[in-house]
Amino acid sequence: MNWCAKQGLRIAIDGPSGSGKGTVARLLAEKLDLPVLDTGLLYRLVGFLALRKGVALDDEAAVARLVAEVIPTVQWDQRGISHQGRWLDQELRGEHVGTAASKVAAMPEVRRQLLALQQRLAAHGCIMDGRDIGTVVLPDAEAKFFLTATQRERARRRWSQLQGLGREVDLDEVHAEIKMRDQRDASRKYAPLKPAADAIVIDSTTLRIDQVVDRMLAILHRRGLIEACAKNRHQ
Ligand code: C5P
Repeated sequence: MNWCAKQGLRIAIDGPSGSGKGTVARLLAEKLDLPVLDTGLLYRLVGFLALRKGVALDDEAAVARLVAEVIPTVQWDQRGISHQGRWLDQELRGEHVGTAASKVAAMPEVRRQLLALQQRLAAHGCIMDGRDIGTVVLPDAEAKFFLTATQRERARRRWSQLQGLGREVDLDEVHAEIKMRDQRDASRKYAPLKPAADAIVIDSTTLRIDQVVDRMLAILHRRGLIEACAKNRHQ
């Protein structure tokens, strides 16, 4: 079945690490022919550059200066993220970069600087995934989902993803990292990880990715935000 999205539709997908939100966002975007924006990449880039340049992860003023320098040289769109003309992907995916990202993401000044960039790119319709999309970045998004799963299952998914990338990691270590990251993301003062009051919460612990996507499509259809159409706009 082909689906067409209402003009300018913005879908927010939030959730903790390993909840499957990135994969779900990409699949949904393909089905609806909408751009998809992974906001975690912005925080990961800042964490990655801070580690590389030796900027202390507890020095908010220094990290904020780094963000101000980085924003004009960054290209962030549905293809991913590039810095000074170089597209970055695998370099940003490791757990140590995720941990650095969640440290810089707790800094209000860092979030403030990245907020306008995110809102500008989302303005004409998109699927955006992150931690605070439904609560802060796009509080008036037409649809909001919050994906979750048990911590153990999320750790298992992350571990198998890292194995797939050829990284030998211990499942218990990945679980411990996820636990710490959850705690930091949910307890921070500014834009903590939590479902928006009007978000639909989906627990994916026992669901396959395609079942999650089908559930979301059914909800969007019921709400009149998408409709079945003969073919995709670009076909
Ligand atoms: O989603 P991902 O694991 O790539 O995000 C890395 C880190 O970036 C998260 O642990 C979180 O601290 C931060 N983040 C955030 N707000 C977002 C997206 C990511 O705080 N919208």
